[in-house]
Amino acid sequence: MTKGMIDNFSRPLKDLRISVTDRCNFRCRYCMPAEIFDKYIKFLPKNEILTFEEITRFAAVLANRGVKKLRITGGEPLMRQNLSTLIAMLHAIEGVDDIAMTTNGVFLPKYAEELKQAGLKRVTISLDSLDDDTFMAINDRGVGVHKVLEGIEAAHQAGLNVKINMVVKRGMNEKDILPMARFFKDTSVILRYIEYMDVGNSNGWTLDHVISKHEIFDMINKEFPLEPVAPNYVGEVADRFKFKENGQEIGIISSVTDAFCASCSRARLSADGKLVTCLFSSGGHDVREVLRSGATDEEIAAFVKRIWEKRDDRYSEERLKHTDKKQLKKIEMSQIGG
Ligand code: SAM
Ligand code: SF4
Ligand code: SF4
Repeated sequence: MTKGMIDNFSRPLKDLRISVTDRCNFRCRYCMPAEIFDKYIKFLPKNEILTFEEITRFAAVLANRGVKKLRITGGEPLMRQNLSTLIAMLHAIEGVDDIAMTTNGVFLPKYAEELKQAGLKRVTISLDSLDDDTFMAINDRGVGVHKVLEGIEAAHQAGLNVKINMVVKRGMNEKDILPMARFFKDTSVILRYIEYMDVGNSNGWTLDHVISKHEIFDMINKEFPLEPVAPNYVGEVADRFKFKENGQEIGIISSVTDAFCASCSRARLSADGKLVTCLFSSGGHDVREVLRSGATDEEIAAFVKRIWEKRDDRYSEERLKHTDKKQLKKIEMSQIGG
């Protein structure tokens, strides 16, 4: 086969999100509520988790076919031991020009410097409130806001580019929308609000919990006037704005009220090696088996190409059809990251 881009009409495969662990030190209420996870979810045994060599080989095959961006996620990615070794291996792949990571930030004071040295460019740190009581109620592990702020500072000191993800859920943290804008407005950190999504099967999502992009925008714009900023590239997930006052950027990700499936070019690799073509898929394709069966690079690429060409995912555009009726079981967010 040729080494051309893996494409599906207007949706080339450009971006690979790699989940390196199914474990997490948090039990965020909107992601993996403790009463469900601790009781029902079995964590993967070590031999079922892809090794660094397997992840790197797969990423290299895709990089050779046009995937330039990698994002490391989890579970909590920094719970995977020696993660900077993997970052260095991925950084050495020809064609990969951007490695980012999504993390809850708690372990960044320990690892930010070595991750940066290994080739990590950017981190997106999740922080949903600046109020300790609210934040502890969300993470359900008694972790205070200062732990994440220390992580943000460590990332900044290490020279990593930092963004913040704030998931907004009605009844949980809408009162934090403005304090978060106020806090990050005068920093170099880009804050992005995310509409609460019906990921997985256990977070109890209903449409009533969603605070829409428009509501978030209006709330901020009233207090701190905003103006739109053009997207950096086609398919960028966040709508970008800047504060008129100082030009600092802010973003809103509207996966529920204004879906962007038409330009979705992301694939996800779970920690146990399943290739998942949509955040809301009910299953994945077994890359681990292909890798461990002695397949050549060409065979691995052909496997992905076949899957991607058939891909017709547009869950978010059709969400209400799915949520009206009893739906298929979905993969949990903690297995495939954001
Ligand atoms: N543990 C890391 C963290 O929290 O950043 C990485 C994995 S986490 C699953 C990836 C991102 O998904 C985080 O920014 C998190 O806030 C977001 N997320 C989790 N559950 C969500 C939900 N129900 N709706 C929207 N975003 C969600
Ligand atoms: Fe929270 Fe991320 Fe862990 Fe999910 S994976 S519980 S969002 S820290
Ligand atoms: Fe992509 Fe699926 Fe999200 Fe649509 S719902 S943007 S296809 S991951």
